[in-house]
Amino acid sequence: MTQSANNKIGKAYLVGAGPGDPGLITVRGMEILKKAEVVIYDYLAGKKLLRHVPENAMLIYAGKKGGVKHTHTQDEINKMLVDWVKAGKKVVRLKGGDPFIFGRGGEELEELVAAGLPFEAVPGVTSASAAATFAGVPITHRKHTASVAFITGHEDPNKKESNIAWDKISTGVGTLVFYMGIKNLESITSNLMKHGRDPQTPVAVVRWASRPNQKSVVGTLETIARIVREQDIKPPALTIVGDVVKLRDTINWYEERPLFGKRIVVTRTRDQASELVALLEENGANCLEFATISLQPPDSWDDLDAALDKLQDFQWIVFTSINAIHPFFERLYGRGLDSRALSHCKIAAVGRVTDECLRTYGIVSDLLPEKFTGEGMAESFEERGVKGDKILLPRALKAREILPERLAKAGAEVTVVPVYQNKRPDSFEGMHEKLLANLRDRQVHMVTFTSSSTVTNFIEMLGITDTLELQSLMQGVKVAAIGPITAKTVRKVGLEVDVQPDVYTIPAMVDAIVDEALSQKHNQK
Ligand code: SAH
Repeated sequence: MTQSANNKIGKAYLVGAGPGDPGLITVRGMEILKKAEVVIYDYLAGKKLLRHVPENAMLIYAGKKGGVKHTHTQDEINKMLVDWVKAGKKVVRLKGGDPFIFGRGGEELEELVAAGLPFEAVPGVTSASAAATFAGVPITHRKHTASVAFITGHEDPNKKESNIAWDKISTGVGTLVFYMGIKNLESITSNLMKHGRDPQTPVAVVRWASRPNQKSVVGTLETIARIVREQDIKPPALTIVGDVVKLRDTINWYEERPLFGKRIVVTRTRDQASELVALLEENGANCLEFATISLQPPDSWDDLDAALDKLQDFQWIVFTSINAIHPFFERLYGRGLDSRALSHCKIAAVGRVTDECLRTYGIVSDLLPEKFTGEGMAESFEERGVKGDKILLPRALKAREILPERLAKAGAEVTVVPVYQNKRPDSFEGMHEKLLANLRDRQVHMVTFTSSSTVTNFIEMLGITDTLELQSLMQGVKVAAIGPITAKTVRKVGLEVDVQPDVYTIPAMVDAIVDEALSQKHNQK
């Protein structure tokens, strides 16, 4: 790599990514990430964070999975960092947890200093802190401990002279947290006991702290190594030793959430999945996003354009999906018009979300049916009477005909114009193998469907051709459907519906999923 042409010198940013939950990076860390030109990231730096990196930034995986052959040696990483900064780039070195806590952040900065290059360092939430918080173990507590030590568990147990003062830490420090200690757990615990720590001291081991797949086990100094072996707990995990571990019995909030550890498949489009995923995750679910739909523009705008030409003719515009609103207004804006061009007509929204979306365009809808479906909408119109009204219905290219049919029957003149189409995504990005494997291994708790096409596309994308095959793959897997139409499609393909909310919204669907999980838990007790 050569120095940049204009001799612009870049800058390195050593950023702590936190323990894995993408919400746990610092505000400063996120600001920097959003402006990155090159990102060199580690195995433990939560991948979800990379979504915030500008699209044209270069992503370099530095590897470093404990025990597995490193993708790049530390020397190579140092060199890459120096070279990219010299090439004039804003280089983010993204590390799991805090870069200065067992992160070799110091070594990388020393290289930059030696090369005379500018840098900034941003701390992160270290995994010890996250593991303690998310396992319900306050790392210090006035009644139990006044001191805490972070210790590497990576030291070769056969080393003649240890760098760890076992005689001092065993009894001299209240809470001990071992990083990278799973392989050596046996020798760590026996060292502590040998040097005077009570064998009954409680110990927690927490794997993938703060992530939806977090797993923790508890024992004592005497028993924990066996428990970890039996439960097959693998790195990355932290070992917390001390009386504070007992407090977990009272405050284990994270793992007590109703959907904790449950694998839930979300089939919405990538753009729309976020609300559902966020709400499910807040309740502890471990979501797998499998987008079965991608929203595309219609093949032609002619129909919409023709309708916009005679906008004055319409008494009503009806939005049956949030997906129709954005393209409709974009096209309207394209003519130099805005929502004032709709001032002469009334506007109907199928549900609360559609209503809220319209408000962002400066429109408060005139009609919101009691039931958030096409049928509900038809009923409302029938009650009002629409004889002779001209109604514009911008919607998906392929959609159910029930609403326009009933409106026409009630005497309205309905103009249906496609403003988007639901397509099956072309690329599965490896997700379909992952989902199939999860289903075959009986790891999936539930699949959520938010429209009929998510159901049919799901089946097609998995390459399933007959009902028996589908039923056997989905055996033991619960199904949630957002509303009656989706539920009907689920039954038509040969599956049963376990969860269906009364109101057809995402929050209501999540509430229903949570209720189902709680009642199941209750029954198990
Ligand atoms: N700089 C990092 C630590 C890197 S050392 C930090 O501040 O957290 C790598 C070790 O950190 C792993 O072997 C494991 O012991 C621990 N670790 C990192 N992320 C973890 C997580 N999400 N859950 C549990 N342990 C984690």
